[in-house]
Amino acid sequence: MEDYSPEAVKFRAKVKTFLSENLPTDWNGMGNFTKEQRATFVQDWRKILADNQLLAVAWAPAYGGAGLSQLERTILAEELAAVGVPSGSDNDPFSIGMIGHTIIEWGTEEQKQHYLPRILDGTDVWCQGYSEPNSGSDLASLATRADLDGDEWVINGQKIWTSQGHNANWIFVLCRTDPTAVKHAGISFVLCPIDQPGVEVRPIVNASGHHDFNEVFFSDARTSKENVLGGVHNGWAVANTLLAYERGDDSTTNGIRYGDEWTRLIGAAKQNDKISNPVMRQRFAAAYTTTQIMRFMGLQTVARSLQGYSQGPESSLNKILWSEHHQRFTELAMDVVGMDATAPSGRDSATGVGVDDIGSPYSSQAWVTNFIGARPGSIYSGSNEIQRNIVGERVLGLPKEPRADIGPWNETKRS
Ligand SMILES: Cc1cc2nc3c(=O)[nH]c(=O)nc-3n(C[C@H](O)[C@H](O)[C@H](O)COP(=O)(O)OP(=O)(O)OC[C@H]3O[C@@H](n4cnc5c(N)ncnc54)[C@H](O)[C@@H]3O)c2cc1C
Repeated sequence: MEDYSPEAVKFRAKVKTFLSENLPTDWNGMGNFTKEQRATFVQDWRKILADNQLLAVAWAPAYGGAGLSQLERTILAEELAAVGVPSGSDNDPFSIGMIGHTIIEWGTEEQKQHYLPRILDGTDVWCQGYSEPNSGSDLASLATRADLDGDEWVINGQKIWTSQGHNANWIFVLCRTDPTAVKHAGISFVLCPIDQPGVEVRPIVNASGHHDFNEVFFSDARTSKENVLGGVHNGWAVANTLLAYERGDDSTTNGIRYGDEWTRLIGAAKQNDKISNPVMRQRFAAAYTTTQIMRFMGLQTVARSLQGYSQGPESSLNKILWSEHHQRFTELAMDVVGMDATAPSGRDSATGVGVDDIGSPYSSQAWVTNFIGARPGSIYSGSNEIQRNIVGERVLGLPKEPRADIGPWNETKRS
């Protein structure tokens, strides 16, 4: 793992000391924990991070962060990932990684002072209300309405696939606030409390049997007039800032997480006597190459952040890379597991999507869950077809694709 400057080396040493002081000497990741043990550890660990100013370290001290640079934040993420401890709770990608950063970029001073410390101390736990039953890729066609009634917005509509919504008490909701404007222009980014009669969160159980996401129904739900981020009708720009964080925030650590998973599958291939199969070896080599590409892309993100550049549309490259890698890789895992995959046994994977926790032992059940959980990777955070459109149009500058709703190549009507 590269170090970048004497200050960075010093910070990495500080993080390593913190880890050795706060983790048991025989620590080997969360992979051996039961679901309940994992949940307790994650909450306790989050508090330790917060108490040591190692949660959301890029935020300014005035907002409850530590005011550290992007580079230091990346180093912290690398070190946490390397030993297999989380950088926060399962909702923190939404609370810290998405809405926290977006409040810092778009919020008023009052909004920053109010919301950011409450995220760090765990008072407010967030989820993401973007997708609707009829608006996914074409997100700007969303129909959920917010109408002003005195000092409050009244929200009506439905969101879907709301990850971790059952563990959240706040939701950021993209709402239509001006139905007369062209679709991208009539949207506002509204912050809404969940614990009220007008909001109902209904579970959806996914194909691997896990409850990771939900439907959220708004029936005259209410939130204060002040709870709009980035100005009324300006929600599309705010939404895109947040999406760049969602798609690119993990780019510096993916090489570590997927690299660890690669090592674990090598262990399983040895155990199952599959390691000498030449085709299998070629697939392992290709997968290793991809983890290294992830690593170098992560370093590129760090280098760019040092020049003051925050992530933009190129974050879609990161999203395409990890999601397609994980689908191919878990197909390889199914070939390593072999016939056991038809009647899997052993401990289950920690979550229904993504990589299993570092330190997890061989279990055919965990690999089957990972295989199923990798399928939606090319759908969530925006499908990979859409990411390829973004790369083509906004990174490479290629001509825009025809849009069915306004007719082909009609630039003047684009919003
Ligand atoms: C596990 C998981 C977790 C999720 N979590 C959340 C969450 O927390 N909050 C949230 O708001 N949403 C969440 N989502 C929803 C996710 O963002 C949407 O599923 C995604 O944006 C795709 O929308 P859709 O499902 O409506 O598919 P559609 O938009 O109906 O797309 C169907 C297919 O058509 C393709 N397609 C559509 N338009 C184009 C185009 N212009 N060019 C080329 N191909 C196109 C798509 O790529 C896709 O293959 C989650 C989804 C999953 C699977």
